[in-house]
Amino acid sequence: MRIQLGLTRTAVMTATLVAGMLPCGRVQAQTAAPRSEPPTRLVVFITVDQMRESYLERYAGQLTGGLGRLLRGGACFRNAYHDHAVTETAPGHSVVLSGRFPRSTGIVANGAGVLDPQAALLPPARGPGASPFRFRGSALIDWLRNADPASRALSISRKDRGAILPLGRAHQQAYWYASPGVFTTSTYYADTLPTWVQRFNARAEPRSYAGKTWSLLLPDSAYPEPDSVPVEGAGRDFTFPHVLPSDSTVLGALAEYPFMDQVTLDLALEGLIALALGASPHTDLLAVSLSTTDAIGHRYGPESREIHDQVLRLDRMLGTFIDSIYRLRDSTTVVFALTADHGVTPFPELHARTAEEARARRVDMGPLMTPIISGLARRGVPASAFTFSDFMLTVNRAAFAAAGVNADSVVADFAARARTIPGVARVDYVARLARGDTVHDAVTRRWAHMLPPDVPVPVVVTLKPGYVSAGTSADHGSPYDPDAHVPVMFYGPPFRAGKFTRTVRVVDLAPTLARALGVRPIERLDGRVLEEALRPARPGPERTLAAPARP
Ligand SMILES: [Zn+2]
Repeated sequence: MRIQLGLTRTAVMTATLVAGMLPCGRVQAQTAAPRSEPPTRLVVFITVDQMRESYLERYAGQLTGGLGRLLRGGACFRNAYHDHAVTETAPGHSVVLSGRFPRSTGIVANGAGVLDPQAALLPPARGPGASPFRFRGSALIDWLRNADPASRALSISRKDRGAILPLGRAHQQAYWYASPGVFTTSTYYADTLPTWVQRFNARAEPRSYAGKTWSLLLPDSAYPEPDSVPVEGAGRDFTFPHVLPSDSTVLGALAEYPFMDQVTLDLALEGLIALALGASPHTDLLAVSLSTTDAIGHRYGPESREIHDQVLRLDRMLGTFIDSIYRLRDSTTVVFALTADHGVTPFPELHARTAEEARARRVDMGPLMTPIISGLARRGVPASAFTFSDFMLTVNRAAFAAAGVNADSVVADFAARARTIPGVARVDYVARLARGDTVHDAVTRRWAHMLPPDVPVPVVVTLKPGYVSAGTSADHGSPYDPDAHVPVMFYGPPFRAGKFTRTVRVVDLAPTLARALGVRPIERLDGRVLEEALRPARPGPERTLAAPARP
């Protein structure tokens, strides 16, 4: 495994200052204590796509299922944050089990996430190929396999990036949902779909939801939110009940219904059984990323009756899922961890609770680029050499040099124009971020954690708090806390039940899991072990590289 450093000395020193963080790979390696009583055989890692930590507090009294179980019996960090700027799905999923910021994982945006034309989907699925070829460095499954080569991982999600990135580059098993309503993988992982996935697809569970109705789980009175809010759903289908199409379009529409999470969990459980994960002396990993909360959050927003019902339904589904796993495996050998890849910012049109939010608007950055691009075209620089997406400006300097155009002056022109757009809070030169106040200024710090030095992004743009991109949905992707504040929860024998209010980062999750499993990260991490989550280690036999072979 190639160790990804890729950080300048300055960047490492900056990182060291952040929130008292240590460059801690070495520290952890010295202090990683074996925790083999009781031995953990199965790690179940759940990412809820777009889950705000505040949901757990807001709905706590109604969480009687899996979320409630983790909340009441687990180690729960109430002030956990993603500490990078582009709070999108792919960067978030690259962080969760690597313990490293996107600056180090190399996954800086959804658009530069997992899409890979050289890794085609396996039939019958159709759609863009996907692999972790952009992911740099290692993740938890690599550390597990370094300690015990027989450890295995299965990762399932509705989204390709949700399934792929928690496993890093590991050639384990990852499956995601694709057209026409089937789960698949890509040639990066396999040449043929295993029988158990083919069997699952043949049952056509997604199609069975055609014409089904999503109505409220609890009586109306359990939901304080108004239902009829025309901003939701871009003015279409914004009241309960929501009815799925009865034709084949159900296969796509299902993504915005709670039932999609059930289908995903059903496949995960079948995979656990088919692969006998957690049934041997080796520690296996089952990663599940549940995407429906993201789809519903975008469509109806974080203050909606729909998101409330989705979280309740997710809670019940996870409760059944945990019970099913405990029926199949000895519960003293299973640990759970749960987090989210990002949160979400409310619709700027609604629910302004502060004066700052009340001023929030949607910002269209499109007109910013038009005059610059047409000017460049006249001077022989193609539009592809100067692109702006996800609030990052990407510049192909070779194309500028070939046309004899000074890239720096065009970048400066862009920065000056961007600063004049209403709703833009700041425009930062990436090269200067490390010299900024990364201790007290979260925006500077989160951008400093975002970009590997070889990614050609000279300038980044930050909107004012609460402002979002033009469009009709609730959005995420900003460096602000509504997008960054997520749950971090651990549950199982190695963990101490409790609610911890110290501010921690999602990069701390993977090193904490590793410590609980008695394995050592194989490279320098950005995260630190959350010691308060762990019960005192009892002495046990230390893991060795010569673990018994899997029968
Ligand atoms: Zn999203």
